[in-house]
Amino acid sequence: MLFADVIIDISASALDRSFQYRIPESLKERAKVGCPVRIPFGKGNRLRKGYIIGIGETPKISENLIKDIADIPERDISIEDTLVSLAGFLRERYGGTMYDALRTVLPVRKKTEKRPKRVIRRKVDGERIQSLYQEEAAKKHKAKARLLEAFIGQDRIPYELASGRMNIAKPTIDYFTANGILEVVSEEKEAYPGDGLLVPLSDEQKECVRRILEERGEGKPFLLFGITGSGKTEVYLKVIEQVLSEGKQAIVLIPEIALTYQTLLRFYRCFGDRVGYIHSKMAEGDRCRMIEKAKSGEISVMIGPRSALFTPFSSLGLIVIDEEQEQSYHSESSPKYYADEVAVKRAEDSKAALILGSATPSVKSYYLAKQGVYKLLTLTKRAKEGASLAEVSLVDMRKELASGNRSIFSKALKDAITDCLSKKQQAMLFLNRRGYSGFVSCRNCGEVIKCPHCDISLTLHRSGKMQCHYCGFEQPLPKTCPACESKYIAAFGTGTQKIEEFVAKEFPQARVMRMDADTTKGKDGYETILSAFSEGKADILVGTQMIVKGHDFGNVTLMGVLMADMSLGISEYSAAERTLQLLAQAAGRAGRDRYPGKVIIQTYRPEHYALQYAAKQDYPAFFEEEMRYRKLFGYPPVWGLLKVLGLSTDEKKLSDAMTQLGEVLKQDGVTVLGPAPDYLRYIKDTYREVLFVKSPDRELLRRLRENAETYSFEDVSLQFESSE
Ligand code: ADP
Ligand code: ZN
Ligand code: ZN
Repeated sequence: MLFADVIIDISASALDRSFQYRIPESLKERAKVGCPVRIPFGKGNRLRKGYIIGIGETPKISENLIKDIADIPERDISIEDTLVSLAGFLRERYGGTMYDALRTVLPVRKKTEKRPKRVIRRKVDGERIQSLYQEEAAKKHKAKARLLEAFIGQDRIPYELASGRMNIAKPTIDYFTANGILEVVSEEKEAYPGDGLLVPLSDEQKECVRRILEERGEGKPFLLFGITGSGKTEVYLKVIEQVLSEGKQAIVLIPEIALTYQTLLRFYRCFGDRVGYIHSKMAEGDRCRMIEKAKSGEISVMIGPRSALFTPFSSLGLIVIDEEQEQSYHSESSPKYYADEVAVKRAEDSKAALILGSATPSVKSYYLAKQGVYKLLTLTKRAKEGASLAEVSLVDMRKELASGNRSIFSKALKDAITDCLSKKQQAMLFLNRRGYSGFVSCRNCGEVIKCPHCDISLTLHRSGKMQCHYCGFEQPLPKTCPACESKYIAAFGTGTQKIEEFVAKEFPQARVMRMDADTTKGKDGYETILSAFSEGKADILVGTQMIVKGHDFGNVTLMGVLMADMSLGISEYSAAERTLQLLAQAAGRAGRDRYPGKVIIQTYRPEHYALQYAAKQDYPAFFEEEMRYRKLFGYPPVWGLLKVLGLSTDEKKLSDAMTQLGEVLKQDGVTVLGPAPDYLRYIKDTYREVLFVKSPDRELLRRLRENAETYSFEDVSLQFESSE
């Protein structure tokens, strides 16, 4: 006898509780996890709709109290059904519970009161706005200027956008309505469909659009590989326009950090009030309201970070993932899903087109494109008139050291900053300190100490030992460099704050701003810094990787990269890939407008291929080289990789459990590495150990994971993460 756990009514409260039902013989074939059922519920046995979230053989209560499932509806596929089936996919592919999977795909529903839709409209013409804008900007009234600027290109913006993402206070809006420049009106009466596409597309862009529209029926995802500033967004807009005209909807994923109001305004300008957006700092009520709007058809384009993928559109025509290589598309909590893979599944289910866009695609996507699984489209030129790619140069910091310069700035970078300041242009200094800074390198020759078995950099621990966090290999910290015997060998790392101080000391005349996790804590932390910098409130912006992501500052002509090698040292097989991506993005920030841009990359390892190809801005050549390494060591995308992370407050129990699990996983056709300490071996009083399992047979890996998930060890919790 089989029993099913059924949840009733997909709403936040009901998800907490499931009810057991008997699966009658007649439905046995069709009853699957995730499938919708009709069940008698409550005293009156009224039929209600539910979903099966688990199937088992043991009754949890007295068997004669368990009712039968009444029916499995055959048609009647609602949007919830589609999403629940997507949850089934998440569970199968990434492990974890059906409950977690459902919570991921189904929006928490709250009662939301309907708010009147309001827009702010300008009552004067664009020229008048332009001159008012200049006045306010000159007076340094930044909120006023920001608000006016939004009206230069268009005559209306949603009230919610102004008060929300743009961070404009009500008194500022009232100020302009009182003096007759702007007005706030209720938009119920007349819909605003947007102004459509404003710029004529280039031939390259047109060709991409044509192919997407013509070939989307084939069901293959498109990889739009276009250099920074080549006009990928314009391609998305054009395709969305077509999709909307067919009565369908579109989802556009944009990494949180690039989801600025400027980006939203660009979509709004095109598609007017059919555009909605969500982001992680949004109030729960606003988010629910937006999702309700998507469900009711009030909006047809949803823009947001990875969770927007689960927008309940009923006839989805397109999914776009911009900057598809971004790490933020990988969920950090269970289920640890990859948005691109889930998008492929959702697009398939709803027969929607899928576009992955990037200037530096993930090695995986480019590999799939080369294999013909994805269709490759390319944009090779910067779209804006007069804008060209920046000139990139590598500075060998070993030579700086040899010539007696121990400063963190090379002579070339110092000169370039001075030059940039004298021209009243802006500079950005990117401190590449992604990941963990525990790797050891030589300042004289650039050598990085790596594991002889895994080709992954060793991590230095406080004990003074260096360790491989893939296989556990250990060695003491050498006193001199094994390659050149220099004694300048040490762990790498400096913070942004320190750089900011250096800059202030070296260039006392410059106004410096800093952007990192510390300075962007507040609700609109990074918006505030980014708009201040774009308004020219500082000459130099110092920051971590968040400054290199997709921002469009016309006046930035210099990008300095400090410690470019840092991300080469992260203890991951994808270190070179991450480095190339960061450097290419950094290079893409300079010279976006009419002034030519300059990029200076400071490094101890100028000969490394990731740096060489970043400087040449030659992604395809990088890819070829990177694939040789992935093939040699059996890393994704060539082989599948499963990471098992074990957590425990008891060190001994943890290492016993992991050793035991390692034995279980060992079998023909797979390689098991570890157990080894995670590169973060001890956080929040918890020890962490990892096992890596590699195999060219992905199906086998999946079965192994499912098997491993059934093991439980006392006081040890396990997390699984598959990369393919
Ligand atoms: P990407 O998304 O590839 O980085 P964007 O779509 O943001 O590039 O375009 C970069 C800049 O070029 C934007 O300011 C955009 O308005 C402009 N642009 C895009 N396409 C065209 C075009 N066909 N003609 C003129 N300008 C364009
Ligand atoms: Zn050395
Ligand atoms: Zn190793």
